[in-house]
Amino acid sequence: MAARVIDGKAVSAAVRERVRVDVAAYVEEAGRTPTLATVIVGEDPASQIYVANKHKACEQVGMNSVHHGLEAATSEEDLLALVRALGADDEVDGILVQLPVPEHIDPDAVVAAIDPAKDVDGLTPTNAGLLAHGTPGLVPCTPAGVMELLAHEGVELEGAEAVVVGRSKLVGVPVARLLLSANATVTICHSRTRDLDATCARADVLVAAVGVPRLLGAAAVKPGAVVIDVGMNRLEDGLCGDVDYEAAAEVAAAITPVPGGVGPTTIAMLLVNTLQAARGRA
Ligand code: NAP
Repeated sequence: MAARVIDGKAVSAAVRERVRVDVAAYVEEAGRTPTLATVIVGEDPASQIYVANKHKACEQVGMNSVHHGLEAATSEEDLLALVRALGADDEVDGILVQLPVPEHIDPDAVVAAIDPAKDVDGLTPTNAGLLAHGTPGLVPCTPAGVMELLAHEGVELEGAEAVVVGRSKLVGVPVARLLLSANATVTICHSRTRDLDATCARADVLVAAVGVPRLLGAAAVKPGAVVIDVGMNRLEDGLCGDVDYEAAAEVAAAITPVPGGVGPTTIAMLLVNTLQAARGRA
């Protein structure tokens, strides 16, 4: 049996259209346009592409965006000063510092300098704390996108066994928190988990956020499970996920492809967060 393919592009398009309509209403009410500020330090080509796509997405829904491209040699002090200045700038609603930053800069210090009310990546200790507390502020975009995909598929999370592979601050932990808030029974796996396949095979909902190409095969998938593959691994023959798609699709009920699954929803949720931040400041 071949699994249903969860179409991240379609879900993303639906979210963007919702945001476009809501932005128009916000502009009408508030008399100003929500604005995202992005910062890149250095010339990392992947970062340049990601950020260019974010600016394009803002434009498509009627939001403004401004970009600050800093030289790779920029000091941590200067970067922190810019991030704080953006926090104090009334025209700016959302701040996104594209990671990774060069090695001489402490990414945690940069994230901590972002005004939590403008933290559209949801990574500040304040927003992570609010999520852990069960009263979310701005939620990290990729985890929010995972929940959007599950909602779109009509997956019943209440009482479901959910297994998240990966415990990063960016993806694994916030996805687990969101699933818990949705009343799933949540297990988090990581590099020290003893029997990964057996643990994953308990899951009604399996979320892979690891960064190891095709780590999870058919033995890790319960028949009829919903599989969300966050992994984005660049191989010589293109992008692949953390799940062996062909093998897992024989067993699962539904599965996200890579590319075209989680990726497109991440940018859509950034737009949602930027509008939420603008409304929160109005
Ligand atoms: P990360 O910070 O490197 O975290 C990876 C996690 O996987 C860690 O918790 C690690 O465990 C765990 N892990 C590593 N090897 C493992 C193994 N063999 N068995 C079980 N667990 C293992 O990565 P991340 O930032 O969360 O990203 C994960 C993946 O998602 C990457 O492929 C990334 O490119 C992708 N991603 C995609 C999007 C998107 O928009 N689609 C957004 C963000 C990230 P330990 O904690 O024990 O080390």
